[in-house]
Amino acid sequence: MLDTDFFRRWMTATAAAVDREADRLTDLDAAIGDADHGTNLQRGFTAVTAALGGESPATPGAVLTLAGRQLISTVGGASGPLYGTLLRRTGRALGEAPEVSTGQLAEALGEGVAAVAQLGGAQAGDKTMLDALLPAVQALGTSAEAARDAALAGAAATVPLLARKGRASYLGERSIGHEDPGAASSALLVGALVEAAGASGGGGA
Ligand code: ADP
Ligand code: MG
Repeated sequence: MLDTDFFRRWMTATAAAVDREADRLTDLDAAIGDADHGTNLQRGFTAVTAALGGESPATPGAVLTLAGRQLISTVGGASGPLYGTLLRRTGRALGEAPEVSTGQLAEALGEGVAAVAQLGGAQAGDKTMLDALLPAVQALGTSAEAARDAALAGAAATVPLLARKGRASYLGERSIGHEDPGAASSALLVGALVEAAGASGGGGA
């Protein structure tokens, strides 16, 4: 089972991954956006880590709703409200449970991803974060490792796509040939699940 501490580790591992990869995320956004995705998420997840240090959310759901609130209030770009909605809605779906199974997390994350799709009006194949998140949710029914691999594959598969949402869509055909920055950062978020599980000394399924 995944406890509150697992969810804290998930968020801090995401923050660390975003720090490590901030330059790459910004470079991807320089190619088809406005070169701020790395700094946007760094600002957001730094705030998440600080908030988790200052408050002690009591449940997995409370960790994610706190994180989502921080992202919405600190990230100026499109990705702030989208990631904030993802985590808040996922947290809300987890309810008050003190521990959840990987299957319950997969189901809740599915609700979060659906909320992102609704907020942004995007669907699979539009070259957005959804192209990493949707396959990851499917694969999370199997394992966190499978979800990470599916997210990475989904992000890589955005390269040949034409962007239909967000800033990159303004480029039309010129958006083809570049990985979507939000899909790349979503793969980091999902990959951090594996790190959080690994650090627990056995909190797998
Ligand atoms: P901004 O585009 O405002 O500069 P960011 O650079 O932080 O914001 O984030 C860009 C990423 O946000 C894109 O790569 C894409 O994955 C995601 N994104 C943008 N618009 C949408 C949308 N409508 N639906 C889903 N994801 C979106
Ligand atoms: Mg940007």
